[in-house]
Amino acid sequence: MMIFILFLFGAVMGSFLNVCIYRIPREMSVVKPGSRCPACQKPVRTVHNLPIVGYLMLRGKCAACGAAISLRYLVVELLTGLLTAATFLKFGTTLEGAIWLALVFLLIVISFIDAEHLFIPDSLLIGCAVVWIVSIISIWSPETLKVALLGAAAFGGFLLTAKVLGRLFFRKEALGLGDVKLGVVLGAFLGWELTVVSLYAAFLLAALVGGAGLISKKVRFGQMLPFGPFLALGGIIAIFWGDWVIAQFVRWMLS
Ligand SMILES: [Zn+2]
Repeated sequence: MMIFILFLFGAVMGSFLNVCIYRIPREMSVVKPGSRCPACQKPVRTVHNLPIVGYLMLRGKCAACGAAISLRYLVVELLTGLLTAATFLKFGTTLEGAIWLALVFLLIVISFIDAEHLFIPDSLLIGCAVVWIVSIISIWSPETLKVALLGAAAFGGFLLTAKVLGRLFFRKEALGLGDVKLGVVLGAFLGWELTVVSLYAAFLLAALVGGAGLISKKVRFGQMLPFGPFLALGGIIAIFWGDWVIAQFVRWMLS
């Protein structure tokens, strides 16, 4: 029951994240006006604005003009619901849980914007930085600050090196400056140990998806792919399973 309530809360938040994903890159207000169909500009009725249920009732089509509604709306609502429940289950309904959840929300918005527009808005990165400041104040000690700064330097430094080397060897902009900045904030949240897990997962996933794209000819060789979603996914994997991965690694090293 508790999980269901958390999921519902997450799905409602996912509905808002959808608004952010559509409007922030178009430099529109995320508060007003209320939801509109992007095709015919008719306001969406309240009942159709309900997360998940609304999309299913409409069967993915605008009630007024019949234009297709992106499946992204349903995916983001389900994903946000699941990750909200998972975050509170792992960290409890505590300040710590709320901080991680705020980061997860920002990562969802960043991923879907980067996937569509190939850029990461600075406003969202600043949002991550603000959440990080709240988190570091809430668990303040010189030691936690040191771990966070090392993580930021390691994550940002690694991506910056990859960006410079990529430009040198392939004469192509494989990584954007937005990816490097996202790396800095993610590293600050994760600390250097989880940074390693997160980077490893991000590059592995990007290689798998890129490879699958090349084989299925959905991706051309040398085509620019958004890296933000992989960084975000690597970060989420590190948040939820990073400690487990490190424990396995330590056990393997000692055996
Ligand atoms: Zn419409």
